[in-house]
Amino acid sequence: MKNKLFSTSMIMLPILSAAQPALAQEIQQKRLNIVCILADDHAFQAISAYGHPISKLAPTPNIDRLAEGGMLFTQSFVENSISAPSRATFLSGLYSHQHGQTRLGCCLNPQKRWFTELLQEEGYVTSVFGKWHLNVDPKGFDYYNILFDQGEYYNPRFRRPDTNGEYIREKGYATTLITDHAIEWLEENISDEKPFCVLVNHKAPHRNWMPDFPNMHLFEDVDFPEPETLFDNYETRGPQMKTQELTIDKHMGYAFDFKVRQLKNEPTLRYIKDSWPMAMGEMDDEQRAAWEVIYDKKNEGFLANSPTGKELLKWKYQRYIKEYCRTIRSVDEQVGRLLDYLEEKGVMDNTVIVYTSDQGFLLGEHGLYDKRFMYEESFRTPLIVSCPSLVKKHSVCKELVQNIDLMPTFLSLAGVEVPEEMPGRSLIPLFEKGKAEQWRDALYYHFYDYPAVGSVRKHYGIRTARYKLIHWYGEGSGNDDAIDCWELYDLKKDAMEVNNVYGNSRYKKIQEALKLELAQLREEIGVTE
Ligand code: CA
Repeated sequence: MKNKLFSTSMIMLPILSAAQPALAQEIQQKRLNIVCILADDHAFQAISAYGHPISKLAPTPNIDRLAEGGMLFTQSFVENSISAPSRATFLSGLYSHQHGQTRLGCCLNPQKRWFTELLQEEGYVTSVFGKWHLNVDPKGFDYYNILFDQGEYYNPRFRRPDTNGEYIREKGYATTLITDHAIEWLEENISDEKPFCVLVNHKAPHRNWMPDFPNMHLFEDVDFPEPETLFDNYETRGPQMKTQELTIDKHMGYAFDFKVRQLKNEPTLRYIKDSWPMAMGEMDDEQRAAWEVIYDKKNEGFLANSPTGKELLKWKYQRYIKEYCRTIRSVDEQVGRLLDYLEEKGVMDNTVIVYTSDQGFLLGEHGLYDKRFMYEESFRTPLIVSCPSLVKKHSVCKELVQNIDLMPTFLSLAGVEVPEEMPGRSLIPLFEKGKAEQWRDALYYHFYDYPAVGSVRKHYGIRTARYKLIHWYGEGSGNDDAIDCWELYDLKKDAMEVNNVYGNSRYKKIQEALKLELAQLREEIGVTE
């Protein structure tokens, strides 16, 4: 393999190439509005525009509208698959080790500038709604209305600039309320004078997947296809897969995740937070009573049959995927509502709309739920960009893009110069044909959050169009030993990532080339651990 990585990905190209002067001028003149919808844990497998079998049974027609009117990125990834680090990357355009929020609870550097601050300086009016979950106040926003902590599905608490730090509970369902607030703000702020930038950050479809009442009945008689790797035994992997705690089988809770409040055959609750009141979150008495009627009925068959072994895992998978897709139905409906509103206002031609998630999500692949891993379903994340005047309709981009690219893209869309230290690149050159000269050949990934929930060991790696090399490392904690092991996947031959070929003599050359590229990339971007 040629060492092309640094000649391509790390050199900052001009915001727009010389071949696109008309486009650059158009952007400067138009001052495009920006709407970015950031879902929490929305897997590409659950967006029908991506064509995965799960999404065929649980389609997302409104998110698909964006893909029909814009560009679907099929090779879009995050640099650290966990919420707060990914959100900090989204805002700052930096890798986790550069902005400081390497782990869920630590340690965002408040001195780093966010793209919304730079947009404000350019005369944009800016706002953010919904999930926030960073240990710092929003900055660079003219207005915010953000959820408490992780956010609650029912009757969530919100904080605005005028509530003096207090969170105020609102009756209703989070996905709808977040959209209500965004539309209320747009109603006051769509104008010919100033372009706007609004971030709509959904709580859904984050755990614990509580559907809205009108969507609870969905998929009741549907059998979702099981992932081929649901019963993965991790045969070719190192010890990190024996000690992780994110399997559907052993680590999800009956009440919290599956919404089963009594189990004749499972008297011991296995999940520390697995109590019925915890599972029901902030529901009021009336909502909880209505929920119990519906779910007690749903659970009758399961409790009567008391499946065990493989059958039990199959049941758990079905319950999990249905709850997950039910919460996505609300997201899709509310995306549709927001798009209808923007159409009514006549601003679509002059507005860039982005749909993405803070990471991907494992939907039973390798028997897992959650994110964190560098495995494809967690590492990869949906990305759709629509703008009739700028992005080719119904187009697909297969280039490797990453969440470090979003800040440079937003700045370029606003005609703001991208600061030199930004490691990512504006996606605008891709908007016409899905290709651009000298695009990057490889991505860097790094997960740091250990010891922590899920017990996923620290790891970093490199992914090219065809290969993925992962290094698991670090001191142990509790019963875990120190670890130092590698995985190598040939994604062309092994898209499911079940056959770790690290150490296989046939892959010796590529293994050494990837190791070298990885070491160079780490040095180039200044990773020290
Ligand atoms: Ca997340």
